Parts: sequence; structure tokens; C-alpha cells
Amino acid sequence: MSLSKQTRRTFLGSAAVSVAAAPTLLGGQARAHTPTDEGVTYEVTRSEAEWREMLSEDQYRIMREGATEPRFNSQLWEQMSAGHYHCRGCDLTLYGSDQKIMLLIGWVFFHHSHANAVLTSIDVVPAEYGDSLGESENMMEAHCRRCGSHLGHIISYEESPLHCINGASLVFHADA
Ligand SMILES: [Zn+2]
Repeated sequence: MSLSKQTRRTFLGSAAVSVAAAPTLLGGQARAHTPTDEGVTYEVTRSEAEWREMLSEDQYRIMREGATEPRFNSQLWEQMSAGHYHCRGCDLTLYGSDQKIMLLIGWVFFHHSHANAVLTSIDVVPAEYGDSLGESENMMEAHCRRCGSHLGHIISYEESPLHCINGASLVFHADA
């Protein structure tokens, strides 16, 4: 399924009604984190062709272009087994199941990442989404420290920060 602009607009409109408690979850499109972004050189770099070869179309849109997957799109949202969540782009271990919290919102939530695993930047929600979100606003974007792939956003939920992550950006490894 393609995450077209029309699909996301529809998704945003319907989600805004039912997720009123956490409107900032409805993130727009982040900037792609290329190796030259803001002078950052990531440890793992790949050409666009190489990324497209290893990722599905939707994974590419999310991880390399900053799109947000539809809610409940990834089964990881309700995954609560013991294990670790790795970056799909470079296999860096990002999150542990001991930090995971399941919310009936449909993305993948963690209280904290592993140390030295996730970097943040400021992501401006495009004005085109302003009609369902109210004023456009800045959000804190989360991406992989090692390959720069977009993971999701860090949001405020009941006055605590939470990592709100696209399941498409993660690969779960259960503890043996
Ligand atoms: Zn990575």
C-alpha cells in the first residue's frame, strides 16, 4: 500500500477525532536524514538505490523520507514479548521490551531508548495538516544514531516523554 498524500490526509483527518488526547502523534513528513544533513555523517551510509533495494516502498517512505505509517499498520504495536527492537536500516539495538508501553493508539511506544542509540531533531508539521491539527507546530523527531533512518517522534503523553515509533522502522528480536 502506498502512503500517498491523499491516504495520509484521510488518515490524519479520521485519527484526529479519536486520538484527541494526543494530537501531536499525527506527525507530518520529516526531512530525510541524508548523510550530509546538518553536517552529520552517519556511521552507516547507503546510496538511495541501496536503500530502495533493501526496503519496501512503504519502509523507504517512512525511514528515508519521514512519512508516518497508518495506525495499527505494524503488529509490533501490541508486541509485548521480552526482547529487543533493532533498527531495520542498520541493525543497531534501539529499544528494549522493558521500556515498551502498549497504548491503544496503534504505534509503537517506549519510555526510553538504549543509550547512544537515538538522535533527535526538530520536525515541522507541514501547514497542509494544520486544518485537522489546529496550528502547525514543531515536533521532536527521532532517528537512528548509526544510519539516520527516521524512527518516529518523541511526544508528551500524560506529562511524560514517550518515543512514538513507526513499527516499519524496527525489527524485533525475541530473547532466547
Ligand atoms: Zn539505523
